[in-house]
Amino acid sequence: MRRRVSIFGATGSIGQSTLDLIGREPDRYEVVALTGASNIVRLAEDAIRLRAEVAVTADEDRLQDLRDALSGTGIEAAAGQGALIEAADRPTDWVMSGIVGFAGLAPGLRALRHGGTLALANKESLVCAGPILLAEARRHGATVLPVDSEHSALFQALVGERMDTVEKVIITGSGGGLRDWPLDRLASATPEEAGTHPNWDMGQRITIDSATMFNKAMELIEAHELFDLPSDRIETVIHPQSLIHALVQYSDGALMAHMGTTDMRHAIGYALNWPDRRHLPVERLDLPRIGRLDFRAPDPARYPAIDLAWRVIETGGLSGTAFNAAKEMALDLFIGRSIRFTDMAPLVARTMDALESRLEADAITLDMVRDMDARARETARRLGEQAMAT
Ligand code: NDP
Ligand code: MG
Repeated sequence: MRRRVSIFGATGSIGQSTLDLIGREPDRYEVVALTGASNIVRLAEDAIRLRAEVAVTADEDRLQDLRDALSGTGIEAAAGQGALIEAADRPTDWVMSGIVGFAGLAPGLRALRHGGTLALANKESLVCAGPILLAEARRHGATVLPVDSEHSALFQALVGERMDTVEKVIITGSGGGLRDWPLDRLASATPEEAGTHPNWDMGQRITIDSATMFNKAMELIEAHELFDLPSDRIETVIHPQSLIHALVQYSDGALMAHMGTTDMRHAIGYALNWPDRRHLPVERLDLPRIGRLDFRAPDPARYPAIDLAWRVIETGGLSGTAFNAAKEMALDLFIGRSIRFTDMAPLVARTMDALESRLEADAITLDMVRDMDARARETARRLGEQAMAT
């Protein structure tokens, strides 16, 4: 029996790496849905090559383009948010949640209803609505497997261990493309400069989030949600080579580290083959050639985003949603050259301050998350524009 798989965000960096692995073993997989947004050509080509049932673009205005690209192939074409949910409703055994941003939450949540496996690259789902996502998975007997490389590494280092023997988990970060810039030059960094990563080849947004370490801040929150750990048992350390992805420190002092090349096919392949391991076409590490591994603590003055992660973990409720929405808006403003690189973290902090009284909540629902997402975006945009005007 071939496994029925869908890939949300198929045209992106994670999606393409996933299709690379699936495309190598056509007899193992039956591709149900592939989704994208703006890249219609790639979406259609991949849908044809992998004989998908349906191809969906999130952009309603591109439906006709997609129909034209798929005409005569027998592959269905669909567009818009409703079509993404309809695609997630099609029965599957394994789904890649590889859409970028808050938009990835709803399709991923829906796909859990089949009780299969959700391979979760979309970290925003956990940051904005971790408790909702994990409760929905439990309700349907579905499995959520981390795809973020650090969390996949932790997951692997935890196999066969008891959580009460875990003293702390440590996730590494490269420090991003501007790691060695003098602090006083950071304000002048352009989106192009911040969008270049020393080690990983990723989408533009996550690459800029690496330079601010907003990505690491998201990952600290993600680790808190996934492994149910308090903030004092989660740490981050800068490791410029990005070869150790994460470590678990146990009660006997042992540190279990996960190493691998900077190739997301590693974590994707682990989630695809779990609980087995199968051969993966990734480069092997040559330790003598690597020679050394470096570590240092992140400087809070360079990476103010990290402190915001602790604030989110301690506040809980809707603070992750507000944090993520404000961060997405700050990133839009930076990419649009409306604010500076160093304005992003203060803008997120000010948005959270403005919404402070609304952030705490004992139990959150999807409607509350949607409402807070919209409210925080609006607040961040307003504060960002005010700052530009002064
Ligand atoms: P990309 O920007 O490369 O790809 C994003 C995907 O989402 C594309 O398929 C894009 O379509 C689609 N998309 C964009 N906007 C929307 C929308 N509003 N609705 C539906 N689909 C949309 O991102 P990445 O692959 O880098 O990242 C995907 C997720 O994985 C993110 O959450 C990221 O944080 C996470 N991640 C990524 C890693 C990496 O190495 N890249 C590592 C760890 C986690 P199109 O391109 O056609 O417009
Ligand atoms: Mg990561």
